[in-house]
Amino acid sequence: MSDLKGRLAIITGGARGQGEAEARLFAAKGAAVIIADVLAEEGRALAQTLQDDGLEARFTYLDVTDPASWASAVALALEWKSRIDILVNNAGIINRSTISNTGLDAWERVLKVNLTGAFLGIQAVSEPMAENGGGSVVNISSNSAFSGHYDPAYTASKWGLRGLTRSAAMEFASKNIRINAVCPGLVVTGLNASSPHLEPMIQMTPMKRSGKPEEIAELVLFLASDASSFITGEDFVIDGGFTAGAAYRRVATQTGIFKA
Ligand code: NAD
Repeated sequence: MSDLKGRLAIITGGARGQGEAEARLFAAKGAAVIIADVLAEEGRALAQTLQDDGLEARFTYLDVTDPASWASAVALALEWKSRIDILVNNAGIINRSTISNTGLDAWERVLKVNLTGAFLGIQAVSEPMAENGGGSVVNISSNSAFSGHYDPAYTASKWGLRGLTRSAAMEFASKNIRINAVCPGLVVTGLNASSPHLEPMIQMTPMKRSGKPEEIAELVLFLASDASSFITGEDFVIDGGFTAGAAYRRVATQTGIFKA
């Protein structure tokens, strides 16, 4: 059911991190993958590596905030395979600053990439997907979309993606386009590798580790493929138990109910 043979997938932010893991997995499952990113060198190199392995992959420069950029990514997909089956709205940035210290430009930039980018992506692919009988969109949100992360721009954008996911699922259900959100916890990538919060986050995570990009990719694959054919408009948290009750677990550990 998770076979992607004959499918065309566009993965934004596909040049590195979780997007790279998704590109590798989807291509290995038989999809023709368009790696769409602003990181041209990394994206081209990844597409070449996959091609060298006999898999189908291409790189295209895509700035998710730019409608013209989306139009050329869609044109490439249609010219290459005459179809678009899957869109993973994975591109994202973080601000790492509080309300008191965030300027309007930084606030708007995060909202534009993380939320408007996904909106533009859904707008761009929905018609070709519908014409082809349907498809699947996976929006990469975050487990910070279930609480109050210290970075308000990032948090608002990721909560917004959950809302966008539900609205889009309602609008496109009749076209057989399913839209779901994946909400990862800590995954060490270029986004956060230098953050001082990694170790405290790992200690707070009930499974006491960060997630691997490949683990997130497996969930994205499930939602992109026919294995999830009756699921739409939902959020899927994948965070080693963090959202399930890390704060209560810490309290229970401090009071000796749970062993450390
Ligand atoms: P990453 O920084 O390695 O990857 C993000 C990718 O998005 C990069 O390749 C970057 O070039 C691309 N990108 C940024 N701006 C873009 C734009 N305007 N247009 C096109 N591409 C753009 O980080 P990652 O951890 O792989 O992040 C992937 C997604 O997962 C993001 O949406 C992120 O918010 C989300 N996420 C990450 C974590 C984590 O702990 N790493 C946790 C929860 C959610």
